[in-house]
Amino acid sequence: MKRTGYGRRRVLVTGGAGFLGSHLIDRLLERGDEVLCVDNLFTGDKSNIDHLVGNPRFEFMRHDVCFPLFVEVDAIFNLACPASPIHYQHDPVQTTKTSVHGAINMLGLAKRLGVPIFQASTSEVYGDPAVHPQVESYWGNVNPIGIRSCYDEGKRCAETLFFDYHRQHGLDVKVARIFNTYGPRMHIADGRVVSNLIVQALKGEDLTIYGDGSQTRSFCYCDDLIEAFLLFMDSGPGTHGPINIGNPIEFTIRQLAETIIAKVGGTTKLVQLPLPQDDPLQRKPDISMARQKLGWEPKIELDQGLDRTIAYFKQKIAE
Ligand code: NAD
Ligand code: UDP
Ligand code: UDP
Repeated sequence: MKRTGYGRRRVLVTGGAGFLGSHLIDRLLERGDEVLCVDNLFTGDKSNIDHLVGNPRFEFMRHDVCFPLFVEVDAIFNLACPASPIHYQHDPVQTTKTSVHGAINMLGLAKRLGVPIFQASTSEVYGDPAVHPQVESYWGNVNPIGIRSCYDEGKRCAETLFFDYHRQHGLDVKVARIFNTYGPRMHIADGRVVSNLIVQALKGEDLTIYGDGSQTRSFCYCDDLIEAFLLFMDSGPGTHGPINIGNPIEFTIRQLAETIIAKVGGTTKLVQLPLPQDDPLQRKPDISMARQKLGWEPKIELDQGLDRTIAYFKQKIAE
């Protein structure tokens, strides 16, 4: 990473008050960087960054990335975007704007400054995949007009913009396709499967399984994921991706629910609800490229990651 200023490296994290953004900021500060966190607090929460207030190397700016931003930084991580289906479907037009206008503004900023820029893309660019496991060369199977399209197509268009800024303006872009990630600081009511099932189990409620629970996902613990973000950003100007980042161990949703019940205990049972429209039936990353280009693979198993996440939500519910 080059430096535009004098002294410490200054890093912009958009979406920094969210689940992944706040973990990323913790790691950047730990290694000595200065951090500018930009967030409009749509799904993020100040409680995720409360512990950083007063740190002289941390700064928070309430701002919507759909609008231009003029700051001086040495690297940009663009994470701003609601990530859970409930949140991104709440105001779908705003979701597309955030992905597309947000990308244009952050790319314009990176171009003016001549600094590397990381994009938090997603496995959703593969849609309901016909190729399994998903490799980066697969173009995907996405419905352009369904209820998930605001997120999927927004992120796909953002990838297009990142690669066009790379080709047209020589920008050093780093596009990561993130697969399902979980851990402490997920929003308690964001409806994603890991947080939903843990919170239901802790409250003694029935666990909601959408469809018959045979659909699969592969769950990565947040600390593993953030390690890959840092390696990717520091990978030098020859590595642009897209690179899949995720845990390749695949589970059915029913297996996940049964594991959570076994851990939390109690007498809760599973109830079946209708499968939402366009819900992908299977998902598992091929991470050969991450292994080869970043020397990265996840280390934390679901068992261990779930224990940490359950402990977090136990405390959150008690607050
Ligand atoms: P999150 O909802 O916790 O965080 C997103 C953050 O972006 C929030 O703090 C929110 O307030 C902020 N934000 C939303 N719109 C904004 C705007 N217009 N301007 C400024 N800030 C805005 O979600 P997360 O799980 O931390 O996801 C972070 C990024 O990673 C997202 O881009 C998401 O698409 C991507 N991602 C996450 C996962 C996952 O499993 N967690 C998987 C794939 C991709
Ligand atoms: N932009 C920004 N901060 C900057 C530079 C640009 O927010 O420091 C925005 C700018 O408002 C523009 C977008 O990024 O809308 C794209 O910038 P670019 O220079 O690529 O395009 P142009 O300004 O020529 O449309
Ligand atoms: N899901 C479920 N019960 C829930 C929440 C989600 O069975 O309470 C299912 C959902 O239908 C999907 C999978 O779990 O098949 C993962 O959902 P999530 O919203 O976490 O992420 P995504 O669908 O974006 O991968």
